Amino acid sequence: MTQSKVWRRVFGVEHTVVEKIELVEATDKIVAHVRLYSNRANRCSRCDRKCPGCDQGSGRRRWQGPDLGTAKVELEADAPRVSCPEHGVVVAAVPWVRPKSGFTRDFEQLCAWLAKYMQNNRVAGLRRIGVDEISYKKGHHYLTVVVDHDTGRIVWAGEGRSKDTLKKFFELLGEERCKKIATVVEELCPQAKRCMDPFHVVAWATKAVDTVRRRTVNDLHRSGRGRAAADSKGTRWALLKNPENQTGEQRTTVASIKRTNGKLYTAYLLKEQLREVFKVGGDAGKKLLAGWLAWAYRSQLPEFVAVARTVETQRLAIRNTLEYSCSNARSEATNTHLRQLTRGAYGYRSPEALIARATLTRGGLDVVLPGRAA
Ligand SMILES: [Zn+2]
Repeated sequence: MTQSKVWRRVFGVEHTVVEKIELVEATDKIVAHVRLYSNRANRCSRCDRKCPGCDQGSGRRRWQGPDLGTAKVELEADAPRVSCPEHGVVVAAVPWVRPKSGFTRDFEQLCAWLAKYMQNNRVAGLRRIGVDEISYKKGHHYLTVVVDHDTGRIVWAGEGRSKDTLKKFFELLGEERCKKIATVVEELCPQAKRCMDPFHVVAWATKAVDTVRRRTVNDLHRSGRGRAAADSKGTRWALLKNPENQTGEQRTTVASIKRTNGKLYTAYLLKEQLREVFKVGGDAGKKLLAGWLAWAYRSQLPEFVAVARTVETQRLAIRNTLEYSCSNARSEATNTHLRQLTRGAYGYRSPEALIARATLTRGGLDVVLPGRAA
């Protein structure tokens, strides 16, 4: 690779000869003197048409480019004028500059990139949030992390896990933005809808299935049907697993429970039906949920009557989940990443460094810099 090719790459110029590079110590700037290839010279800067030359314009010009390491960079070149049949006498085109700019394209690109991402862009379009707490240090040190539910990005993180911590976030967000948020704490966000994580709801039912199973096994023992009890004992994983994850053998087990243990099979179906409620979601999910509650109450399984009662106390939040299809799965994924970060953060004196790293890596910055492929 030739030297000039390297320099063209460094200064972000094409169709150009880099004639000389100097460090101007007075201004502490690197100045690259460049010259366009002759087939690129004398083109109109508005339409890129090859035009007859006019004059030297205001002579040599400089444009500021992105810094090179810690040094500022300027490109210097002739800026003659051409006479375009359509645009009249205009400055000749130089490919690394947009017309009338004192900065190179790369420099402008970099500024635009910073402007886009450095501001509070992370809260733009925020509608649904998930809030999680994470321990980042031994001895009850917590961060409260707010995640954009739609993108999975970290929107904000703060030290502590009290209501006041979260309050800081809402204060930063401002009243107008709070109105658009559809999750979390009602007192802080009057418009907020609290959602229930489907995973938790289904976990109640899964636990109930297990309790029913243990109870029926014990009943069988007590009534002297030890053999049947032994058979039922091996059913645990088959019953707790979701059907799509069951092995062929486990599916056979569930089928045999259907024949031999009606109560346990009902419990299994109730759990599966509750899963279905969230799978379907929306209005259909709400209808299924109403049917599920009736079925659970009628089931004569005290474990499921209890689950039904809990579901009813949380019904509003569950209905919100169905309506807005929320689950904490996204913020959980972010939490997994945070836990990895925190493992390396035990040496940090303050949580700020961790917060900064977390928001940088999970804040959704799509870092494309000049000279890098998107
Ligand atoms: Zn023109």
